Amino acid sequence: MSCIFCKIIDGQIPCFNILDDDKTLAFMDINPVAPGHALVVPKCHTPDIDDAPAEWLGPVMASVSRVAGAVRDELSPDGINVVQANGPGAKQSVFHIHFHVIPRHLGDNLTMNWDLQPGDMGEIGKLAERLRARIG
Ligand code: AMP
Ligand code: ZN
Repeated sequence: MSCIFCKIIDGQIPCFNILDDDKTLAFMDINPVAPGHALVVPKCHTPDIDDAPAEWLGPVMASVSRVAGAVRDELSPDGINVVQANGPGAKQSVFHIHFHVIPRHLGDNLTMNWDLQPGDMGEIGKLAERLRARIG
């Protein structure tokens, strides 16, 4: 198995887990573009949106909604973007479908093509704890 998100789902690689149910996993992005940046994935390997089995998309979007709600309630951003990339031209770098949940702040000047910058693991861990507790 070479997919990094499958390894995370399988427990072979650690993550800052914030939601774990039978069909989906949500965890913190370790190169966050904003504090609280999280990812939501299905627990089945599928590269992108046009390949994704319909029966997985419903549960994934339900988890995206729960994570976005926790981000809103816990971090009070000015807004939230849900972003999903398909293919290298869209800057997809991990080919296991995932939805980014990104807290936004007025004037943050975030563009949609970002470079990966490692975050502070202590800070990411603390935010994961707060969001996990909020999701319950
Ligand atoms: P994309 O560029 O849309 O494919 O996004 C992939 C995301 O996965 C990037 O934002 C990476 O920072 C993130 N990522 C890669 N490896 C890990 C990991 N081990 N744990 C958490 N996030 C990761
Ligand atoms: Zn995978």
